[in-house]
Amino acid sequence: MKYFIIFGPPGAGKGTQSSLLIERYSLRHVSTGQLLREEIAKGTEVGRVAKELIDQGKFVDDNIVLDIIDNQICNYDSSIKGFIFDGFPRTITQAEALDKMLLKFNKTGVTAVLSLEVDDNVIVERIRKRAEIEGRKDDSSIETIVNRIKTYHAKTEPLISYYKERGRYHRIQGDLPVDEIFNNICSIIESL
Ligand code: ADP
Repeated sequence: MKYFIIFGPPGAGKGTQSSLLIERYSLRHVSTGQLLREEIAKGTEVGRVAKELIDQGKFVDDNIVLDIIDNQICNYDSSIKGFIFDGFPRTITQAEALDKMLLKFNKTGVTAVLSLEVDDNVIVERIRKRAEIEGRKDDSSIETIVNRIKTYHAKTEPLISYYKERGRYHRIQGDLPVDEIFNNICSIIESL
């Protein structure tokens, strides 16, 4: 099994690239943001707790997210060749927990971190456009968007060094057309 992480700030295009990658490489897309939004839609207790935080642009607690991931990687269809984690890990605690979880399945851990690099000003523009199309509450106010970008820099960016030190980090220019980015990611995957 392959375990890819699609990495980058909010609005970097992780979801878009994930949907192309799952088709090409028979992967399962595990988006913690999407899974949390499903919990909210179902009105579960986890959803209720998550909604409060998400709407303010804050992270959901590591233990909630880790339960979701554990459940995803332990129950899967045998036809898939791996996973692509989108929006996870977002903290060092989550990255360390993922490494521990993967030890149950392989010795090599995360196969590769595919990191979409995009400037903050481009991100804000993209999220504002997405707000018009998808109507996500956390995309609707500039204050929440700015909070998410700040949280990204403070808590998620340290993962770059974490994965560089482990030789798993691959950078991809994220402000190119979708198909060019996709081809660049495919070249990285095929060179592994
Ligand atoms: P984006 O990448 O555009 O921020 P996501 O759909 O990945 O959108 O995430 C939406 C929100 O869900 C995040 O702002 C955060 O509140 C919550 N969330 C998603 N994944 C995690 C995670 N791994 N840890 C904590 N909170 C998360």
